[in-house]
Amino acid sequence: MNYLHRIQDVYGTREARAIYMLVMEKVFGLSPTDVLLGKDKELSAHSNAEMENIVLRLENMEPIQYIIGECEFMGHSFKVGKGVLIPRPETEELVKLIIQENPTPMDILDIGTGSGCIAISLALEGHRVTAYDISDQALDMASANSKRLGAEVCFERENILHPSSTHRVWGAIASNPPYIRQSEAAMMEDNVLRHEPHIALFVPDDNPLLFYEAVATYSIGHLQPHGKLYFECNREHAYDVAEMLVQMGFRNVVTLRDAFGNLRFVKAVAKDKAGVSSSSL
Ligand code: GLN
Repeated sequence: MNYLHRIQDVYGTREARAIYMLVMEKVFGLSPTDVLLGKDKELSAHSNAEMENIVLRLENMEPIQYIIGECEFMGHSFKVGKGVLIPRPETEELVKLIIQENPTPMDILDIGTGSGCIAISLALEGHRVTAYDISDQALDMASANSKRLGAEVCFERENILHPSSTHRVWGAIASNPPYIRQSEAAMMEDNVLRHEPHIALFVPDDNPLLFYEAVATYSIGHLQPHGKLYFECNREHAYDVAEMLVQMGFRNVVTLRDAFGNLRFVKAVAKDKAGVSSSSL
C-alpha cells in the first residue's frame, strides 16, 4: 500500500492529503506541483526509508508538528518537539489581542512560555519580554526559537507555584497555563494525550484554577498600577477565573470568546496601587 493510502487509513482523505503534502514539502523539498507531477514516486531508497519511518510515526498518532519539527504561529515558524506543547490557533488570538491593546512597547511577562510562542511573538512586535517556565526542555526550545526568529526575550526558570522573590514589575502579564482537568483526558484525541507533555496540559480535578490563582496572586505584586493581565483558559472555567479575579480586586474583568465561539480568554486590569481599589465597585 502506498504511503498516502496508509495515512488516509488513519486520518481520513482530507487531513491525510494535507499531512502528506506538508511532509513532502518540509522533509523532501517537493512542492505541491512536484507531487502533481509524480516526483514523490521517485524518492531515493534513503528517502523511502525515511518516509517509512514518518508513516510509522503518523500511524502511532504522533502529531505532524513533532515529526517535521516545526509549527506555524503568528506567521513565524517555531521549532517544536517532544516535551513542548504545540502552539494552538486560539493562542494566536490571545497574542493578537495583546498586540492590539498595547500598541506601544512595554515590559511584558509570559508565565508558562512552552515553545515561547507568546513571548517571542510579542517581542517581535517591539515589547520587552520576560518569560518563565518550569521545564528546562521548554526553556531550551524557547531560547532556540527566540534566536532563530531574531527576538530578544529573557527566559527564566521559575515555578509559578513557588516563585522566587523579585521587585520587578511589568506592564502586562500573559499566561496560557495548564487547564485541562484530569477527568477530561478520556475525551481527548490520542495525538494530544499520548504525545504532548502532560505537565503543560493537566490540572487536578479538585483544583482546576491552581495556576490562575498563582499567576493572579503573583500579578498583584508584580503588575504596574493599571497593568493588564491576560489569560487563556478552559472554556468551562472562564467565568470561574473571572469571578476569582473580581474577588481578588482586579478591575475591568472581561471574558472573551475564541474563533470557535468558546469562552477562552479572560483579561483584567490591576488596581491603582497594591491593596487600594480606585473605585468602590
Ligand atoms: N488548548 C490546549 C488543548 O486544547 C491546552 C493548552 C493548555 O492546557 N494550556 O489541548
